[in-house]
Amino acid sequence: MSNRTLIRGGLVVTAADEMHADVLVEDGRIAALAAHNSPVSQTWTAARTIDATNKYVLPGGVDAHTHMELPFGGTSASDTFETGTRAAAWGGTTTIIDFAVQSVGRALREGLDAWYAKADGNCAIDYGFHMILSDVNEQSLKEMDLLVEEGITSFKLFMAYPGVFYSDDGQILRAMQRSAVNGGLIMMHAENGIAIDVLVEQALAEGRTDPRYHGEVRKVLLEAEATHRAIQLARVAGAPLYVVHVSAEEAVAELATARDKGLPVFGETCPQYLFLSTDNLAEPDFEGAKYVCSTPLRPREHQAALWRGLRTNDLQVVSTDHCPFCFTGQKELGRGDFSKIPNGLPGVEHRMDLLHQAVVDGHISRRRWIEIACATPARMFGLYPKKGTIAPGADADIVIYDPHAEQTLSVRTHHMNVDYSAYEGRRITGQVETVLSRGDVVIDGRTFTGRAGHGVYTPRSTCQYLN
Ligand SMILES: [Zn+2]
Repeated sequence: MSNRTLIRGGLVVTAADEMHADVLVEDGRIAALAAHNSPVSQTWTAARTIDATNKYVLPGGVDAHTHMELPFGGTSASDTFETGTRAAAWGGTTTIIDFAVQSVGRALREGLDAWYAKADGNCAIDYGFHMILSDVNEQSLKEMDLLVEEGITSFKLFMAYPGVFYSDDGQILRAMQRSAVNGGLIMMHAENGIAIDVLVEQALAEGRTDPRYHGEVRKVLLEAEATHRAIQLARVAGAPLYVVHVSAEEAVAELATARDKGLPVFGETCPQYLFLSTDNLAEPDFEGAKYVCSTPLRPREHQAALWRGLRTNDLQVVSTDHCPFCFTGQKELGRGDFSKIPNGLPGVEHRMDLLHQAVVDGHISRRRWIEIACATPARMFGLYPKKGTIAPGADADIVIYDPHAEQTLSVRTHHMNVDYSAYEGRRITGQVETVLSRGDVVIDGRTFTGRAGHGVYTPRSTCQYLN
């Protein structure tokens, strides 16, 4: 009884259903659901009862793409695992999957252990890891098998960033062939980085140095071309493919064509591509640097294709690619040379809210919101039904969400460790009120009651869409 919590009277929304139900939590898991005030739920007793009348009761968000403390461009992402996961909790996200990084010339094991150490004891919510492959060779291919068995079941490759994370087509093919055997899922940053670097050099030589040129040189066609090439390489290897941060209409079209052929090809987009555009990159006085990320923000016209892709399931997941850098001292490294602006945007706190706004605005349904933000990322990366739904036996990662609250996003009120908001002044209908992580209340009526170290490392099974 003392380890029981009862959530009464809310509208429980999952990817599959909506129902007015009472939810009984016991020992960190969901013990039972029953119709609100039914004879069954009326008998339930608990140490604490949360009144969710007129609220939504949602599975905690699963953000499958974050980069806490990522070293990049001579600096590091400004959110630590402690500050970033706390901000995630504030925004109704109860699981992140971050990226451990292999350094060139080093073992996967070394990179993974370094990321375990960074996160251990610091997280407010549960977390897992993908592995970034920066150096595909005989040794790292063998190590992939061991990592899959250990619960690191997805591997990110880059067709961009030559000299840093870049893999050539031969390395990509080898990694895909390996994943076809060991059950891993290849996640692809699909941009033609070799061609982009030529355009960067030419732009800088011609004095086009402002942040907006970051978007202009990273052309839509070079995203679409790389997406197409990644898909064909995956077909040759007989491997599934997950394309990260899809931003261009033409790239969505490549995914749609592949999926129409029945290929196991998946796509993710991010709130910044759905809500921001090249208009932001063009903001004067170097303000555009706040919006520099890769793939880049696109002209506003691309947004309709992304929303359509989310509705038609040509895109399946919305993650944040949270990778914050402060404007002062970090983004400023690129004054006079856009190629030196650290790539990344803060967003881990706002994904659930922005997507609720999309429900209010009519872009997606309420259940689709939960599907793309909770259930599908959990299934894609082997965490379902422990994460991503509200069902007996699932972890009690639960968000009490007030769909009628009004809020304004701002650097003055957010909890991410970064000195600006990419969504400054944006009004949102809906707000997270209370959050449970494995049954513990970590946000209580908009007060943080969690702690660093509550969150635990969560090993994953392989992609649940493939068997
Ligand atoms: Zn990323």
